[in-house]
Amino acid sequence: MADGRGRKLRAGAPYTDQSSMPAPPKFIVDAMLGSTARKLRILGFDTLYFKDGGDADLEAIGRTERRIILTSDKSLFAHSLRVGNRAILVGGSSDRTRLLSILGQAGPEMVQRSGRLESRCAVCNGELEVLKRSSAAKEKIPPKVLARHRLFFRCTWCSKMYWRGGHWERIRRLSSSLWTKALT
Ligand SMILES: [Zn+2]
Repeated sequence: MADGRGRKLRAGAPYTDQSSMPAPPKFIVDAMLGSTARKLRILGFDTLYFKDGGDADLEAIGRTERRIILTSDKSLFAHSLRVGNRAILVGGSSDRTRLLSILGQAGPEMVQRSGRLESRCAVCNGELEVLKRSSAAKEKIPPKVLARHRLFFRCTWCSKMYWRGGHWERIRRLSSSLWTKALT
């Protein structure tokens, strides 16, 4: 399925023109939420994982880079708001419920973008470039995986390779279900 300009439409979400949308939110995530940070990156959100340094540094980066602070720590959340950060107190005990908690509080710009962004590197937050199989064959990829997929993705920062395997697809599917749930 494609629109008049040849762009592919993603099934399961109504099409809207992305160029008229506000920029997707960016996040800085405290040390307790590493697994959630990795999933946000796979969903395509620019997400810094802050695990070394104090709360003041985290808040300063959040303000300078206009990143929403994600934390489960009530005192850090309250302090962040007092010093002028945008922050979300993340509830939930699984990544699914945490992502729902974030989606519910991040505002329409996140809900609109959820499920429509290109994935980023789960390890370092770098952007991914697409590689065809012939180029990917020069990388360290198990032969069976190479034979099974046509497209591969390489992090432009740390060079980690990705392909659309079960883990990736599960997380992208999770995104679609969260997106639907957030709107109902
Ligand atoms: Zn990377």
